[in-house]
Amino acid sequence: MSDCIFCRIIAGEIPSPRLYEDEKMIVIRDINPQAPMHLLLIPKEHYPNIAEMTAKQATTLARCLRTFAKLADGFGLSGGFRIISNKGADACQTVNHLHIHILGGEKLSENMNCSPDLPI
Ligand code: AMP
Ligand code: ZN
Repeated sequence: MSDCIFCRIIAGEIPSPRLYEDEKMIVIRDINPQAPMHLLLIPKEHYPNIAEMTAKQATTLARCLRTFAKLADGFGLSGGFRIISNKGADACQTVNHLHIHILGGEKLSENMNCSPDLPI
């Protein structure tokens, strides 16, 4: 998908240092971090979101998450981390290539600050 920014990063057309890479995924830093440590786990295969994910892609994603979990301490996430995957307009998904946000590096908000209309 030549118009997909994450496919272009995976292809090396857009420079983005990889904290980890294997045959199924890359892990990069989010360019607009929302926590001291904000990583993106991006499967190399292009599909839009978890609602349009095949069973095979789901199996691959689960394996990628297991791999990441084993590496997390090495990324400075030994205190814990939160994972998020936005799907669609209400979730403000901006890149239609499935990716998992990984947030940590400090104690995160208990309420996740997800709705602008709810009190913090
Ligand atoms: P989402 O809104 O869930 O689709 O998340 C897309 C994320 O990709 C946002 O958090 C952006 O900051 C991030 N992003 C966009 N372009 C880049 C890039 N070139 N390198 C790293 N992260 C990016
Ligand atoms: Zn893509």
